[in-house]
Amino acid sequence: MEKINENTIRIIDNPVVLQNLCVMRDKNTDAQSIRIATRKITKVLMYEASKSLPLVEKTVNTPLGACKTKTIDPDINIIISPILRAGLIFTDEAIDILPQACIRHIGMYRDENTLKPVWYYNKVPMQVQDPYKFHVFITDPMLATGNSLIEAIKLYADKEIPLENIKVISIISAPEGIVNIQAKYPKVEILTAAVDSHLNEHGYIVPGMGDAGDRIFNT
Ligand code: URA
Repeated sequence: MEKINENTIRIIDNPVVLQNLCVMRDKNTDAQSIRIATRKITKVLMYEASKSLPLVEKTVNTPLGACKTKTIDPDINIIISPILRAGLIFTDEAIDILPQACIRHIGMYRDENTLKPVWYYNKVPMQVQDPYKFHVFITDPMLATGNSLIEAIKLYADKEIPLENIKVISIISAPEGIVNIQAKYPKVEILTAAVDSHLNEHGYIVPGMGDAGDRIFNT
């Protein structure tokens, strides 16, 4: 396996994230506690991911006078694209943090034999004028083989959205998946809370947290 390119991966392992990751991973944690921990981690990851959004100057009037400051450029389009089903857990927090964003769901499941993604829903077909004004956050708590994420990135890359404007946000990642994405899309930045040991023969991340969708949605 190729080595991970450290230039396009950001591991957000601050103490709050690590504490909540312990909760998520623990096999004895119930679904509600997993959801709460996941949302707390999502917040931190989204704040980090939004650091690269373009700013414009703005003057606001406080009760004490004019304040020359900055805000997110209102002329850009922000897209949050959760990969169903586990990626859904990011949406409430992400849209609270970036209320101007639109959510474009992507439905894919992993064929258990081939580990390849199978499409069942795609909310991405859209008109893209000025693709350089688009900023996309693709969310999936588990970056395992990376195959679904590559398919998702392709949807946006095919619309000429600059790869530097597309970010993958995951909580637990496998080195194999990171390398897979970086080989195809070296300019797409990956933000994650942890890089684990490896994938097992069923495509699960070890040690990971098991099936994220099942554990989050209590199925
Ligand atoms: N998807 C999951 O939910 N868990 C894994 O370990 C890998 C993919």
